[in-house]
Amino acid sequence: MAPNELITANVLLASSTAAIPSHDQPIPPPSTKKANKKRRRKTSSQQRRRGPPLSATPPPVVDDDSTDISVLPDAGPPDASTDTPPGVAAAEISSSSSMSSEVAPKFATSEELKLVPTCVEISKMSPEEKISAMADACKTILRCVGEDPEREGLLKTPLRWAKALSFLTDGYGKTVAEVVEGAVFNEDHDEMVVVRDIDVNSLCEHHMLPFTGRVHVGYIPNGKIIGLSKIARIVSSFARRLQVQERLTKQIADALVEAVQPAGVAVVVECAHLCMVMRGVQKVGSSTLTSAVRGSFREDDRTRAEFFSLIGNK
Ligand SMILES: [Zn+2]
Repeated sequence: MAPNELITANVLLASSTAAIPSHDQPIPPPSTKKANKKRRRKTSSQQRRRGPPLSATPPPVVDDDSTDISVLPDAGPPDASTDTPPGVAAAEISSSSSMSSEVAPKFATSEELKLVPTCVEISKMSPEEKISAMADACKTILRCVGEDPEREGLLKTPLRWAKALSFLTDGYGKTVAEVVEGAVFNEDHDEMVVVRDIDVNSLCEHHMLPFTGRVHVGYIPNGKIIGLSKIARIVSSFARRLQVQERLTKQIADALVEAVQPAGVAVVVECAHLCMVMRGVQKVGSSTLTSAVRGSFREDDRTRAEFFSLIGNK
């Protein structure tokens, strides 16, 4: 992690006319400590309820000081069984379900649950086998929400959903070099380059619901420039993972540093999160603003001010 990393997160509600957040603000204390404690408590109580974990690989323990980066890379699709307490769901649904007996949801027996692939097995699967495992998990989800996956309108839904989620998370494992594909050129240009209003769509890792918005990127070359379309490619390669906006912002900035070793980089991400809009606090029209600055953008107030005036205070 870069030593001069700076992230400011603000939630601007409704008509966001407030100024871009000051870069002198401290990083808001991440709620990861509390969340981690909760997560561990939950995990262990789930295990108590269900006996030993089904997966050969224990759930990742998140370092309290990290920003959850350790839970992300290469974790692969989550074990389909770990968040489905079959006994509870079966009892609740069968007592309240209006479905006829022939379409009543069937839940896996403990013998069948042993067939649920473990993380190790998933890592050895072909892409097609992963899609098939994801589709099976989707059928379980459909049954849990009271649906019948065999209903005509839903017949192809599990496969469609699996393919869509696979597409939306295909950024894992891509290196910056692979994304940039050599589109870095020697150029004696040392003025600020700004690309603004890059569309971004990602999935929040807390709810697996979309967040969408725009990214503004600025950098000051130090002998090398990058193909402008590659900046958008960098944005989408990090967006196509389960994300938090704060980490996405930092990763874009760090990728540009890695790609062109510029004199400085600034990234601003402005997104609306459907997990806020559709549930929870339900703040329609709210947007979250995060920024990351490196090098001269961090050290020089005037450089930073120029960047923020160029992207416009929208
Ligand atoms: Zn969320």
